[in-house]
Amino acid sequence: MDAHTQIPPGTDIERRFEALSKRFPIVDTHNDFPYALRMQLHYELSSTPQFDFDSLLTSHTDLVRMREGRIGVQFFSCWIECKTDDILSQDFNQPSSIVRDTLEQIDVVRRLVDEHSGALRFVHTADEALACFQDQGSTQIAITLGVEGLHQVDLSLGVVRQYHALGVRYITLTHNCDNPFATAASSVTGGLSDRGLTVYGRECVREMNRLGMMVDLSHVSHKTMLDVLATTQAPVLFSHSSTYALTAHERNVRDDVLLLVKKNGGVVCINFFPEFLQQRGRARVTIDDAVAHIRHVVELIGWDHVGFGSDFDGIPQGPVGLEDVSKYPDLVKRVWAATGASEEQVAKMMGMNVLRVWKQCELVAARMRQTHGPVDSNWDQRRWVFHEYCKELPELFPGAFGLKQNEYTDTQTLVNGTAHDGSEDDAAHAKN
Ligand SMILES: [Zn+2]
Repeated sequence: MDAHTQIPPGTDIERRFEALSKRFPIVDTHNDFPYALRMQLHYELSSTPQFDFDSLLTSHTDLVRMREGRIGVQFFSCWIECKTDDILSQDFNQPSSIVRDTLEQIDVVRRLVDEHSGALRFVHTADEALACFQDQGSTQIAITLGVEGLHQVDLSLGVVRQYHALGVRYITLTHNCDNPFATAASSVTGGLSDRGLTVYGRECVREMNRLGMMVDLSHVSHKTMLDVLATTQAPVLFSHSSTYALTAHERNVRDDVLLLVKKNGGVVCINFFPEFLQQRGRARVTIDDAVAHIRHVVELIGWDHVGFGSDFDGIPQGPVGLEDVSKYPDLVKRVWAATGASEEQVAKMMGMNVLRVWKQCELVAARMRQTHGPVDSNWDQRRWVFHEYCKELPELFPGAFGLKQNEYTDTQTLVNGTAHDGSEDDAAHAKN
């Protein structure tokens, strides 16, 4: 079957897909559409009349094609690049606007949902996502969020917690740079050593488990994958990764990791980026390469651990036959035709595996919260910098000022609640 060949309407697979897709949602765990809104519109959606999400856009994602693609649940990715261009050497003590930039990504998705509330529904739990699809008469698509890299929490577990409060349901441990939590696959490709998960990263995984924030292992190094699988108390997610056995890219999932994912109960959502699907000796990448990667996961570890994480709008173009969000049904039907899977198995691949992992993370979180409070530790290399005048502020208890290592930068004093340089002018001012 050529990649351009459609499964003809009226065939058995076609009829069975039509019936199955009314009962079970297609779930995509990674779509970068919010980044297009950042880069091309600076988030000015309502003042850009040419932008209409309910009509055909020229990118990969819009409502028309999401409906055609039978998408039931969409994780929109909130992605901001690593801090500096030199991805092999990042200074995480440099002040950064990355949390602002991530909040804007979250905000634009919430606005998109609000402006299309007939078509989209923002959901907070796996049950809400499934209910959104299965509600009698509902045609709404469930929308939720992922953050693509712990560099976007800018060192702070407090930010992890607040992203969760804002509706983010997974965080990828790294993007294409190491951070204080973990080693990235691209750093290993770039020649750095694979240090895996750090001590602080371990604490972060525990906090994510406690929150019910899915731990996403796309983009991380091989050792980080192994370390997390030895640490996490909840099933893991690969939000957009393909298999290393078929495409030897450092960020694809090796077979030893796949076997551990089976034990862990996690899910690998196959990425449609042609670079991560291309098999040796093949000139062009088609929908059948995605089928091959899915089959590899299924043949090695079964139908309970595979899903879709397209990377649409984060890639220049999809494979032939898998060009945009309208094409998921073609992929489902081709996998079905190639494997002769049961309806239950196909439903799991379409999205029920992801919803199961999400739900299990919620259950682990509920259990952990009974016995564990928030993890309140900090990165041990974080610099805490204050003005000299802060020393004049009241001490919490005797000796509190001596507990933590701070740096003090100047000799400013605090007058009338503002910083002054201590000159006589200031003294005069203070009397008023
Ligand atoms: Zn990515």
